[in-house]
Amino acid sequence: MQDLFKKAWERIKDSNHIVLASHINPDGDALGSSLSLYPILKEMGKKVTIFNATKPLPMYLDFLPNFDKVTDKLPKNYDLLVSFDSGSFDRLGIEEKPPFLINIDHHISNTKYGDINIIDSKAASTSQVVYNMLKANNVQIPASSAICIYTALVTDTGSFQYESVNDKVFEMAADLVRCGVKPDFVAKMLFQRDRLSRLRLLAKAYETIELTCDGKVAFVEVTKEMMEITGAIKDDTDTIVNSVRAIASVEVACMLREDDDGIKISLRSKNYADVSKVAIKYGGGGHVRAAGATIKDEFDFKKVKEMLKEDLCKIVKEGE
Ligand code: 5GP
Ligand code: MN
Repeated sequence: MQDLFKKAWERIKDSNHIVLASHINPDGDALGSSLSLYPILKEMGKKVTIFNATKPLPMYLDFLPNFDKVTDKLPKNYDLLVSFDSGSFDRLGIEEKPPFLINIDHHISNTKYGDINIIDSKAASTSQVVYNMLKANNVQIPASSAICIYTALVTDTGSFQYESVNDKVFEMAADLVRCGVKPDFVAKMLFQRDRLSRLRLLAKAYETIELTCDGKVAFVEVTKEMMEITGAIKDDTDTIVNSVRAIASVEVACMLREDDDGIKISLRSKNYADVSKVAIKYGGGGHVRAAGATIKDEFDFKKVKEMLKEDLCKIVKEGE
């Protein structure tokens, strides 16, 4: 890994115009990781474009420094694209192959689509991989970068709750605080600016919770109608599946959301089930404890639930 960190940094130093890109429908880790390099590269005198194909971006991340510089337009000419938190090339929403691509990620399902691939599936967040790369190259981390790396870490560890959290994660968090991060500020920005429409959506979605497989598998539904009635937006659905997983008996929770192109599924497990296997089966990907996919051109919730029930009960039984 140290060699890769050095090789990647050399390539960055040798490039003039760098694109920092992250996956469509970005989460805190995707945007945080890509934004974290911006002040550092600017300080090095680089031309930098921060790219994300999604519009609009999730507003709950608008406090991240340089959030307003993210664009959905790729420049015509550039030397290097660095991708963050994107398990496959198609998740970047980019048509043409970049001149050179450094792929930085922590998804176990990463397809290694880069010219340099820095994939650490044990990392708690992609931002931890970025942090390790900066440290390996003795790069000073300004406060404006540290806040992005820290926010990515908080969001991808469910506020330091997941199995990926260890001594290294807390050491990194402490170092980021020394770099200028105020954890209470980040927590308030992330968790104390809730939308009433989101709470109203939760109330409707929770009514659809269905337990199966001896209460170990839970389904929850979000329909377009629910979103319309409550005025909720897609971002408002982000944590529903986590709350459903929190039911005592549940090992695997699955949210089904009606999207324009089909049914989006979000899978979460608690202790032992590998949900990435099921997501990959349906053309998606992710991690052992958090994965997702979109079942394209399918809008029948009942049918999809029946299908998934079999897969999810199987992975739950296998691991018992
Ligand atoms: P979520 O359920 O919150 O959308 O995603 C959980 C995890 O699975 C995230 O790490 C996300 O990147 C990954 N994931 C979600 N949907 C897809 C998908 O359609 N394809 C791939 N490759 N990964 C996905
Ligand atoms: Mn991530």
